[in-house]
Amino acid sequence: MNFDLDQDQEVLQKSVRDFCARAIIPHAARWDEEERFPAEVIGPMAELGLLGMHVPESYGGAGMKLHDYVVALEEVAYADGSVGLTMASHNSLCSGHILLAGNDAQKARYLPRLASGKALGAWGLTEPGSGSDAGAARTRAVRQGADWVLDGSKTFITQGSVAEIYVVLASTTPEKRQKGLTAFVIEKGTPGLRAGKRLEKMGLHASDTTELILEGVVVPDEQRLGPIDHGFFDTLKVLDRGRIGIGAWAVGIARAAFDAARSYAKQRVQFGHPIAEFQAVRHMLADMATELDAARLLVWRAACSQDAGRSTTMESSIAKYYAARAATRACNAAVQIHGGYGYTREFPVERYLRDVKLAEIGEGTNEVQKMVIAREILKDLG
Ligand SMILES: Cc1cc2nc3c(=O)[nH]c(=O)nc-3n(C[C@H](O)[C@H](O)[C@H](O)COP(=O)(O)OP(=O)(O)OC[C@H]3O[C@@H](n4cnc5c(N)ncnc54)[C@H](O)[C@@H]3O)c2cc1C
Repeated sequence: MNFDLDQDQEVLQKSVRDFCARAIIPHAARWDEEERFPAEVIGPMAELGLLGMHVPESYGGAGMKLHDYVVALEEVAYADGSVGLTMASHNSLCSGHILLAGNDAQKARYLPRLASGKALGAWGLTEPGSGSDAGAARTRAVRQGADWVLDGSKTFITQGSVAEIYVVLASTTPEKRQKGLTAFVIEKGTPGLRAGKRLEKMGLHASDTTELILEGVVVPDEQRLGPIDHGFFDTLKVLDRGRIGIGAWAVGIARAAFDAARSYAKQRVQFGHPIAEFQAVRHMLADMATELDAARLLVWRAACSQDAGRSTTMESSIAKYYAARAATRACNAAVQIHGGYGYTREFPVERYLRDVKLAEIGEGTNEVQKMVIAREILKDLG
């Protein structure tokens, strides 16, 4: 067992860290304030290979392992949770679904554009009435000759208004509930497809989150991803990888909160001493450091298991569940260590706390992760 990064991973980590220090960290607070999607970072991120991390080199990607991806994603999330979420949903969800279920023609058509950053990707499963319960999806895809006609609406779609390529799950056999879902790739500009309302969120203000409306959207059967009624089975595999990414994303934001809290504790003086000398504050920092290390190790274990070709349903959920909770606790403690100043916009820790909360909700809530973990533990019960 080796807990060290290899030399290539160290180079990757350093180059992403340097890029973020230059191109993201100085602007993150302003993007949050302006609630603006920072389109200007997409090109430079693509040049660094961050938008095609798992895409094979033959399709213009970086052809990297999942472990490489989580190392890079932690750095980007450290710099800005919103940009990190763009990277996560683009790579793991949209490109990830096409990589998993696409045929050669679909991969050749979409992956080079996604990997080069010429097109951003989005992935739409959630609907107004169907979140944790994917089987309640009401977006329908009905076969008409060689085509499919899609009608319905999705919500909470990351990159909903800025993406060019959408993977959308629609019900093809409603009586089979989630087992009757099928995935389609739909391009921006297809008649009947449009972004709906932009969602006003508690955090992640620089991440584009909108509804997605489908009204009589006609797509040829060649844009169906994977077999009919197989969309949910592929989604589970996509999420097995995506959840590991969200774990790394959470660790990244919380590490930023930890660094901010540690440096504040050293310079803030009360009762004639830096607050870092008080045991209560030291214990908060110790808990943060311990839990973030544990979270990262769980994320890396799951990523390395995926890279070894193993199924990681339970490891992915454990990593995501633990990292989300640990990271939320750490960001909350960082605000506490800053006292009243932590509650102001003068310091970044309030943004970290607002942003990190999504880790407990997106790609399956904490409660859903526990359902998955318990189901895996109790598999023999049938
Ligand atoms: C910023 C943001 C970005 C997102 N990006 C995307 C995206 O790009 N694509 C996409 O498809 N979706 C996206 N989502 C949606 C996200 O995945 C869902 O919000 C999430 O799956 C939860 O669904 P819900 O919001 O409908 O909550 P619900 O499913 O309604 O859950 C509400 C509460 O009930 C609990 N609950 C539900 N069922 C059970 C149960 N059986 N047992 C115990 N507790 C239960 C939940 O844990 C939660 O606490 C995004 C969400 C946000 C906030």
